[in-house]
Amino acid sequence: MHYKAIIIGTGPAGLTAAIYLARANVTPLVIEGIQPGGQLTTTTEVDNFPGFPDGIMGPELMDNMRKQALRFGATIQSGLVTGVDMSNRPFTLFLEDGSKLTADSLIISTGASAKKLGIPGEAENIGRGVSTCATCDGFFFRNKRIIVIGGGDTAMEEAKFLTRFASEVRVVHRRNELKASKIMQDHARGNEKIAWSLNRTPLEVTAGPMGVSGLKVRNNETGEEELLEADGIFLAIGHTPNTGFLGGQLPTDELGYLQVISGTSQTAIPGVFACGDVQDRIYRQAITSAGSGCMAALDAERFLSEQTLHIFA
Ligand SMILES: Cc1cc2nc3c(=O)[nH]c(=O)nc-3n(C[C@H](O)[C@H](O)[C@H](O)COP(=O)(O)OP(=O)(O)OC[C@H]3O[C@@H](n4cnc5c(N)ncnc54)[C@H](O)[C@@H]3O)c2cc1C
Repeated sequence: MHYKAIIIGTGPAGLTAAIYLARANVTPLVIEGIQPGGQLTTTTEVDNFPGFPDGIMGPELMDNMRKQALRFGATIQSGLVTGVDMSNRPFTLFLEDGSKLTADSLIISTGASAKKLGIPGEAENIGRGVSTCATCDGFFFRNKRIIVIGGGDTAMEEAKFLTRFASEVRVVHRRNELKASKIMQDHARGNEKIAWSLNRTPLEVTAGPMGVSGLKVRNNETGEEELLEADGIFLAIGHTPNTGFLGGQLPTDELGYLQVISGTSQTAIPGVFACGDVQDRIYRQAITSAGSGCMAALDAERFLSEQTLHIFA
């Protein structure tokens, strides 16, 4: 099958792009991947998406976006894109079930996955005290004890941000030295609400019926196990942008985020656009993803109209 535009991913970026393209009569195909609705389907309340004064549950917000895209004629198809050939237009997409699709333009909105430790208690307590986003969830931890795991700039920034809510923030890092820049370390170390458990390897997230109760760690110096009590655990060990299926055809930054021309969604290949977390190492929010999804749709629409003009010129 051939489409004028194919959008890969149904998070806030992909579905916003779908709404805009469908309303512009481009009738895009949207491919869902293994997480229909994207990351917000894994959370409960979303309090910071404008337009919902009482907040909205993540899955409901995504279901609304999906219905809105369908209402204007977008087609949403389940399936995983395993490869793309961008050497010629139309671009060819290879799906996991062996089928092929072609498209005149492509919007990549495949998100970025937070890295996890893979320790017992971690996966089952995501949303019950384990979080990967301080901006999203910090507010829910007023006057509570929080652990931030990580030693880079992001961990320092998140720890500092979380001191606005928490009674104590404890940074846990498996090495004695932090990877964070000196200035970020100095800021964090100067904050009296931040405590430190360095040279500790996280072993297990402990939890009770009310959610997380602490983090079991091994003291790398003594080899002894310790239990650090906490109500919330924030993982700040990085993200992996979901770009493996692109096979390196598009330039990325050193962390693997797709690069776009500043102020646009245009990648290095004309007709290929990127939006949402997959190209955003800084903000990674639903609203910024939706905003960049809108940009990608407008850019794709302009690209497609210019191609039509060339044909008739
Ligand atoms: C637990 C949690 C809570 C959060 N809370 C908030 C909050 O309260 N407020 C806020 O603003 N932000 C929050 N965020 C962040 C927000 O969810 C993300 O910034 C946003 O979802 C990114 O949108 P996206 O469209 O770029 O990608 P995603 O939502 O990550 O969606 C990516 C999509 O791409 C698809 N995909 C990936 N690879 C492929 C492939 N190869 N083929 C086909 N499809 C593919 C996936 O199936 C998915 O549909 C939270 C994140 C998490 C994890």
